[in-house]
Amino acid sequence: MNLYPLALRLTDRRVLVVGGGAVATRRVPALLAAGARVEVVAPELTPALRAHADAGRVTWHARRFAAADVDGAWLIQVAVDDPEAAAQVSEAAERAQVFCVRADDRTAATAWTPAVTRHGAVTVAVTDDGDRRRALAVRDIVAAALENGPLAGAAGGRNAEGDGPATVGGHVALVGAGPGDPELITVKGRRLLAGADVVVADRLVPGMLLGELRAEVEFVDAAKIPYGPAAAQEEINRILVERAQAGKFVVRLKGGDPFVFGRGGEEVVACAKAGVPVTVVPGVTSSIAAPALGGIPVTHRGVAHEFTVVSGHVPPDDPSSLVDWAALARLRGTLVVLMGLKNLPRIAARLLAEGRAGDTPAAVVQEGSTDGQRVLRSTLREVADAVAGAGIRPPAVVVVGDVVTALA
Ligand code: SAH
Repeated sequence: MNLYPLALRLTDRRVLVVGGGAVATRRVPALLAAGARVEVVAPELTPALRAHADAGRVTWHARRFAAADVDGAWLIQVAVDDPEAAAQVSEAAERAQVFCVRADDRTAATAWTPAVTRHGAVTVAVTDDGDRRRALAVRDIVAAALENGPLAGAAGGRNAEGDGPATVGGHVALVGAGPGDPELITVKGRRLLAGADVVVADRLVPGMLLGELRAEVEFVDAAKIPYGPAAAQEEINRILVERAQAGKFVVRLKGGDPFVFGRGGEEVVACAKAGVPVTVVPGVTSSIAAPALGGIPVTHRGVAHEFTVVSGHVPPDDPSSLVDWAALARLRGTLVVLMGLKNLPRIAARLLAEGRAGDTPAAVVQEGSTDGQRVLRSTLREVADAVAGAGIRPPAVVVVGDVVTALA
């Protein structure tokens, strides 16, 4: 069968979907993403389609198909099981000369939807002559190659948003790398990383991610920048701006989420001041992921309706502390402390002194999501000694609250 491949611009064009079941549910999102004006004709809808209709994203005609429905449609998707009903749509489509995709009978269709994978601005569509499984298999191979194989750079990180022509000039993407397991970076973060000209990475960034960088990528290890922490941050900001202004695509890779105690905000401000465009790609934060992987949900029905994440970097009695420890001691929900290992004795003592019960469950998760992960369970009264005794090392999160024993 000689197919003629084509890509359609459906923005604001009427697309008719006949059927409201599982097939239609899977087909409608791509039509909506293409900007189509989707009209669904079906006596009943699945809950997901119903949600689209209720939100006004699709127009629903709650009835069976009528021949006049094809009028004014640019494309028709037949998603009904009943071959007779489907044939009726096909006939009407043929008469109106509108292309018609048939989920039930591909040979009766005048248009076929290919197997698709999208990577930023690149879309790969694979058709076949009847063997759908082969098209999907080819699609999967290409998708894997685009994600982390030989084609990784080709899908491009340059156009960080992936929705238009490649950006001319430099750009910075602030990417959260996740808590440590290299598989816990987001799909978008990984795609941008694969297209980077320059990568500026923190100490806590998973090393495995860096091992995949192309040889020509300039790598800046932010942990190795000398001077004190303040000067080092200025130096990082300077490198980001300078490389971007030289036309490079710079990925600033940060542990966890860039805006959770990551100084990501300062880097956004520095770039904005210099007129350098910035994309922020959120990450899986250790404040939620490390407890989760240690078997602790930060919220749990009937146990905790809140969780609070604080930095323990500054001790509770330090005048420069911005944390209201007395208020935290009054919470009955979950408290997660980052960078709190060194100050844990003072933090626990302060929470106890402000009234949090000594037998409140407390846990420490070291190097969550990595091979070095360790979990220690204790109580608020004893956790500091237990941590010292067990030789727990940073990076680690401290969790205080009844959630610690919720799944235990
Ligand atoms: N932006 C990061 C946090 C940076 S502050 C995020 O969202 O995760 C650094 C602190 O994060 C460490 O001191 C430690 O408390 C915590 N941390 C980071 N990675 C961790 C991990 N894998 N396991 C436990 N704690 C971790």
